[in-house]
Amino acid sequence: MKIFVFFGPAGSGKGTQAQYLKSDHGFHHLSTGDMLRSEVNSNSDLGNKVKSVIDSGNLVTDEIILDIIAKNISTLTSGNDHAGIVFDGFPRTIAQANGFDAILSSMNLSVDQAFLFDLSLEASLDRIAGRRIDSRNNDVYHINSNPAPESVVPFLIHRDDDQPEKVTHRYELYKQQTQPLVEFYSDRLITVDCELTISQIHAQFDQQIRSFEHKF
Ligand code: AMP
Repeated sequence: MKIFVFFGPAGSGKGTQAQYLKSDHGFHHLSTGDMLRSEVNSNSDLGNKVKSVIDSGNLVTDEIILDIIAKNISTLTSGNDHAGIVFDGFPRTIAQANGFDAILSSMNLSVDQAFLFDLSLEASLDRIAGRRIDSRNNDVYHINSNPAPESVVPFLIHRDDDQPEKVTHRYELYKQQTQPLVEFYSDRLITVDCELTISQIHAQFDQQIRSFEHKF
């Protein structure tokens, strides 16, 4: 069972490539952002606690995030039916990365590969302005580069935290809190240049995956 982590600014394409690992390589896709949003939508205690944090573009505490991961990981690793798990948007701080290592080592696992999805603030703002999400299953579309089919349009949402000033704030937090992971994972890091088109990003990612597929 391989453990991959994806980090990078909003709009860099992490979710899209994680979906690809799921559909074509048998990975389980775990997005902490999706999990938190489903807690918010279900009005759970946790959801009510984190709603304003997410809407403002701030980070949920390391303690809450590590608790969610610890609660879910044993279910995911117990059945041996996945090639691996891709953690999309986690870890986002050094404290989360250290906490994750502790959780994994108690299960005789470790992070096998980290992927940095590298994107400038300008490109992040541009991508997120046109991003729309299918509220039923979190599928991601873009009004110009990847328009949703007619039947999906009524279900599309533009996330509250995808407003430009919040995207800028999220990018600043990314630089301060998440970018230090480049150093943390420097011995097993692959950088994906995400300034390119979606299909070029995918081609680049796919080539990286295939180059070490024999290890899966
Ligand atoms: P995302 O869908 O990955 O863009 O995440 C949306 C929001 O959920 C973030 O802006 C944070 O408020 C929260 N969130 C998701 N993952 C994490 C994490 N690993 N650590 C802290 N907050 C997170």
